Amino acid sequence: MAAAIIDGKAVAAAVRERVAGEVEALRERGVVPGLATVLVGDDPASAVYVRMKREDCAQVGIESFHHEPGGDVSQDQLAELLATLNADERVHGILLQLPLPEHLDQDLLIPLIDRSKDVDGLTPGNAGLLVQGRGEALVPCTPAGVMELLAHAGVELEGARAVVIGRSILVGKPVATLLLSANATVTHCHSRTRDLAAVCREADVIVAAVGRPNTVTADMVGEGAVVIDVGTNRTDAGLVGDVDFEAVREKACAITPVPGGVGPMTRAMLLANTVRTARAQAAVRAAAAARH
Ligand code: NAP
Repeated sequence: MAAAIIDGKAVAAAVRERVAGEVEALRERGVVPGLATVLVGDDPASAVYVRMKREDCAQVGIESFHHEPGGDVSQDQLAELLATLNADERVHGILLQLPLPEHLDQDLLIPLIDRSKDVDGLTPGNAGLLVQGRGEALVPCTPAGVMELLAHAGVELEGARAVVIGRSILVGKPVATLLLSANATVTHCHSRTRDLAAVCREADVIVAAVGRPNTVTADMVGEGAVVIDVGTNRTDAGLVGDVDFEAVREKACAITPVPGGVGPMTRAMLLANTVRTARAQAAVRAAAAARH
């Protein structure tokens, strides 16, 4: 029997609705959640992503503060902008759109974002907390979305054999960490993994985050596995994932499509992270006010 399709659009819509309710509750207490977006350079895809994120914010009542400092901005000037946003009480989340132009060093800039405003979950502080299994970690949006989809699909992770393909800081590593925290037995694969097919065949859950079409084919998937396809690859045939969807669908018990799977979740989880940081910062301020 063909696998159930895990509908990322529907789950993302539910997350957005939940966030809109949380934003409303915060606004009633006088807290307007705010997200600062910083776009550097003229990468057209980045411009589209940032525009969509701002539209998402507007839809759920999150205020957005957009900054476009110009492609020739220096490392120091960008650092200064981040410091200003860190100090701005209206800004609860800071999103530095990646990739940055080549003359800028993102490894030096990302750590400058206040950990409590790091809604992309990319600062070393949040990455460290995530590895330590600490609940206060802000989790990168795509991995958080993957976990939300697995929960929605009712996938039992405790004791499950999970295979993650890809080990980027943005996707693969946090996904593997989250699955481990959910008590799955995780095997982490990458470009040097020997006999990826054999490793995948043992899996109850496969998460593919590679960026190469057809990395996961039907012969690599055991009967009844759950397959989450993070990949987004632009091909002549349109947008495809890393998984041979039609063939794998015949073996898996549940699978995410591309588009319409993980993608919408990434956007929704940014909103969820922003409302979460707004709530946390409001609580810190309220506690400080109560002490004085
Ligand atoms: P990345 O930084 O390029 O990492 C790709 C990973 O795949 C690397 O760890 C690499 O291994 C591994 N890999 C490459 N070829 C492989 C192969 N033949 N077999 C096994 N592993 C292989 O990419 P990323 O940022 O994690 O993104 C991965 C994909 O997800 C991309 O298609 C990206 O567009 C997509 N994405 C989607 C969303 C969304 O919202 N849907 C969000 C983020 C990313 P090594 O480490 O050994 O090089």
